[in-house]
Amino acid sequence: MTDIIIDGHQDIAWNHFNHGRNFTRSAWATRRRETGSAVAQVYGPCMVGLPDAILGRIAVMCATIFVPPASSKMVPTDRLVYATSDEAYRLGTQQIDYYHRLAGENDRIDLILNRADLDAVLATWAPGTDFADHRLGLVLLMEGADPILEPAQVEEWHARGLRIIGPAWTATRYSGGTKALGPLTDLGRALLEVMASFGMVLDLSHMAPEACLEALDRYEGPVFAGHANPLRFCPDLVDRNLSDDVIRRIAERDGVVGIMPYNLFLVPGWKRGDRKDAATMNTVIAAIDHVCQITGSARHVGIGSDFDGGFGAESTPAGFDTVADLWAIGPALRARGYASEDVSAILSGNLLRILRAGLPGG
Ligand SMILES: [Zn+2]
Repeated sequence: MTDIIIDGHQDIAWNHFNHGRNFTRSAWATRRRETGSAVAQVYGPCMVGLPDAILGRIAVMCATIFVPPASSKMVPTDRLVYATSDEAYRLGTQQIDYYHRLAGENDRIDLILNRADLDAVLATWAPGTDFADHRLGLVLLMEGADPILEPAQVEEWHARGLRIIGPAWTATRYSGGTKALGPLTDLGRALLEVMASFGMVLDLSHMAPEACLEALDRYEGPVFAGHANPLRFCPDLVDRNLSDDVIRRIAERDGVVGIMPYNLFLVPGWKRGDRKDAATMNTVIAAIDHVCQITGSARHVGIGSDFDGGFGAESTPAGFDTVADLWAIGPALRARGYASEDVSAILSGNLLRILRAGLPGG
């Protein structure tokens, strides 16, 4: 079967609400509309649209419910920030409703709520199908759990379709995070317990190392780091990239690390405005290969592009212009000597294993 791709992280709703982007347009159509705009200046050239995703053979994306706290300096111009948990809840709810609408109004987009939904999407990519048949499935992932008012409310979110939770972005009421180190809180420990009772996937991305290690010990359900790179490549990013120790622990739990083709997390000292080609496809392959080398197999690595997650094409390695270009990772892995079945595992199989484990049967 020709390879398909599973993308472990896409902030589709945030791009819709915060930037006014229409996901059903191609990235280039969005770029044309944004020529000279503040959004293009702050967030760079758009990389993600439904047509690009289908062209790039992306069958499934983990689509985020993401709202940043007002206190964060990581999002300079944003209107959609929260100061209280009630505001976080309201904004998060808007985003989950948006995904239901998006899927309801577009016959190329399906919300994946259970394993049967996943299989139905994958069937549209099976041998013998062609471009007109393919559909994109979205699995809903919350990045930063503050919209969940209290752990017991996981039940309500799960009923609305949420299947993956990353407790942290920067710190939340649940966990220390990026640029705000700290442990899991008692509320965070309670959250993990409720998540496990629903068999949800725990996303370790952005969790501060201390919180991440405790969560790996505690959490009984499936785990992954949907968008995160090895710390080895940018040793200063201790609050964002993953140490070899954490990567090995994720592998011990049969988890997966979704590699981000993002220069800031791949090239030490790189900053926005520096050269795009400071990283290349080789850099991305080296990050994938590193996870394979230290875990001893190709079973624990995938792709979590996070394209349009606060940056655009200017900040991704040479050769990556839109999300459609993720396909090129497959041939590059083959050229590096990876066997076909390992390439498939990296592009799709590994993340599919995690998603399947976190989806209700039937
Ligand atoms: Zn993120």
